[in-house]
Amino acid sequence: MPLEAPLDPVATRVDGLNHQYRHHSATMVLEHALNDPMIGRIAMVSSFGAESIALLHMLSVIDRTTPVLFIDTNMLFQETLDYQQTVSEKLGLTDLRVVYASHTATSLTDPKGDLHQTNPDQCCALRKTIPLQAALHGFDSWITGRKRYQASSRANLNFFEAEGDARIKVNPLAHWDKTDVQDYLINNRLPRHPLVAKGFASIGCAPCTSKVSAGEDPRAGRWRNRDKVECGIHFENGQMVRKPILKGDAA
Ligand code: SF4
Repeated sequence: MPLEAPLDPVATRVDGLNHQYRHHSATMVLEHALNDPMIGRIAMVSSFGAESIALLHMLSVIDRTTPVLFIDTNMLFQETLDYQQTVSEKLGLTDLRVVYASHTATSLTDPKGDLHQTNPDQCCALRKTIPLQAALHGFDSWITGRKRYQASSRANLNFFEAEGDARIKVNPLAHWDKTDVQDYLINNRLPRHPLVAKGFASIGCAPCTSKVSAGEDPRAGRWRNRDKVECGIHFENGQMVRKPILKGDAA
């Protein structure tokens, strides 16, 4: 939805939105987010991973013309690429935008394709963060599928979050737990990512994703055997900054 007048600062709007929608369900938060002038032009960002189809389905029921951004790092499992096509078709998504890293930047920075082994932060910045920031240009807000239960540092995640002064992040499933996701998938008969049945509980790039054992944290298979605390690269106020993040918060 185009913005027609200057808006309050992002932080002010986020405070108001969290107060206004604090007792709403995930579906109602998403529905309002797609239509609230305080949120502006909005897109969903989806990895088409293990749980992504829940929020994608919710979006398709409300407005399947909403832009959906999918970052193809060229390091994904073939199963993810196939699943993305199957799900997009099944849900009737009409504005799927596949986001790639610049070929020139990749050739210059990672000519051998092994940067993920030597400098995963730089690899994620090259293949995910920078392309996503470019793809989000022109949007005032974006929708994520993040949930409180996924990591301790997400324990206080709210429906609406300020991304510096740049954008609002909308997290309709913030309060959902694993059971809520499972119930939604079963009740709506939604197809799971094929790697879930093979033991992958959280699915990212192939070189950085492994199976998890029973009782392990769902995200234990991401960047396995790397330090518990990684140095992430994020954008704040339009600037790329480095700051420590918990492993479970990595993209
Ligand atoms: S998850 Fe691994 S392969 Fe994918 S962008 Fe990050 S470091 Fe590179």
